[in-house]
Amino acid sequence: MRLTLLAGASLLLAGCASTSPVPTAATQAQPQASSDTRARNIIFFLGDGMGINTLTAARIYAVGEDGELTIDTLPESAFVKTFSNDAQVTDSAASMSAYMTGVKQNNGVISMSSDTKAIAPVADANGNKQLSRCTDGQTNNGRAVPTLAELAKARGMAAGVVTTTSVTDATPAATYAHACHRKVEADIAAALVPGGAGYNAALGATGLDLVFGGGAQFFAPVAQGGKRADGRNLVNELQARGWRYAADTRQLQALAANGQPALGLFAQNHFTYEAARDPARQPALAEMTAKAIDLLSRNPNGFFLMVEGGLIDHALHATLAKRALQETVSYDAALKTAIDKMRAIDPGLKNTLIVATADHDHTLLINGYSPRTGKTTPANPGVLGLVRSLPDNAVRLDKDGAPFTILGFGTGEHRVQGSRKEVTLTDAIAAGDDYHQEAVVRTRTGAETHGGADVYLGAIGANAELFRGTIDNTRVFDLIKTAGGL
Ligand SMILES: [Zn+2]
Repeated sequence: MRLTLLAGASLLLAGCASTSPVPTAATQAQPQASSDTRARNIIFFLGDGMGINTLTAARIYAVGEDGELTIDTLPESAFVKTFSNDAQVTDSAASMSAYMTGVKQNNGVISMSSDTKAIAPVADANGNKQLSRCTDGQTNNGRAVPTLAELAKARGMAAGVVTTTSVTDATPAATYAHACHRKVEADIAAALVPGGAGYNAALGATGLDLVFGGGAQFFAPVAQGGKRADGRNLVNELQARGWRYAADTRQLQALAANGQPALGLFAQNHFTYEAARDPARQPALAEMTAKAIDLLSRNPNGFFLMVEGGLIDHALHATLAKRALQETVSYDAALKTAIDKMRAIDPGLKNTLIVATADHDHTLLINGYSPRTGKTTPANPGVLGLVRSLPDNAVRLDKDGAPFTILGFGTGEHRVQGSRKEVTLTDAIAAGDDYHQEAVVRTRTGAETHGGADVYLGAIGANAELFRGTIDNTRVFDLIKTAGGL
């Protein structure tokens, strides 16, 4: 699958090739997808907040220092710069929008032009802060810009979204909706309903083909226990348009690949953490991914699928490292499922591109210099445990004379006030399911911040070799567009 470069000219043109996102006939050295190597199937995996420290810690947690997660086996890779249009450290809305549209956005904005100001919604008649103020007092607050899902639909491909958060949360929203602020979630849900008020017509006459995740409350009116102030029941509206609906794992499994669109809402808002998930009520990310591929891959023109592991970010904001690592492992399992299924459908992944990355870092730290811990087991805290010393494996003490954990955070809710000398910390405490690792800077509860470091991107399959070097998040859009001929 490696794209060939023309000898001679390639060396001279290598410099300019990296600055021009659009391949031209004059720069034949630039990688470009020919029609026979076009990635007809594109799967974009997004680990929300899955910085490199989180990836490394998840590897040690699951398979030990010298093991390999599936994401570690992807043959092509790059580093991605994630700063947003207005901020050094991005939020999920701006970064995912950059991936989906190729346009730098202000924090909080969903797939709009760079000049769009993020204006928070206000309370609606029921007190829910989701009433849009995007155009208040302004004749123009930016414009919608095309997303990869819209480009795919325009090309006759199928398109779908799978997530463990509400399907109206920032990351999935950036694939199919446009808004000046991520919190207008009732409006974002309406963008999915073909023919209805607020529908995103750029998705074509029939809209997305598949949406799996949480967020049922944004599809039902207040009178039915939902959050919609407009009285609409979007599930009913979609069903009236031929969509099938699944509300639990059994109903998800029962969806046949018959070409009809499908909506699966398995939580009122976000899923519960993987370790606490009720498998009958909420399917695993890998199960939703497998079903999505079954349904979308019957389209002869190929498909675009976005899969988000959304709770990695939630656990990190809560400084619950164990939960974050478990969510990362769940994301990695979904990636393995996708690769295995697509290899069976498309041997050699000749027409399938799978990209796995994150939208931003968090402030998770891996403190040294413990002896190798190996993977975490019931008898071994592994990377969740205390820092120990070589060669005697004694618990290492800080300057106050207290033990400390391998994993920590730059910001977070748990910081010992004053000296740590009275801290009593054991491996059993540190490896507990709901232990909040200590932070350097104390924040309010649940408010650990994103980090500003570059993130990892891995790729496999058709035109995966386009992804290399250190690239901007907007460049990822260009490369996927090129790889897929969108
Ligand atoms: Zn995020």
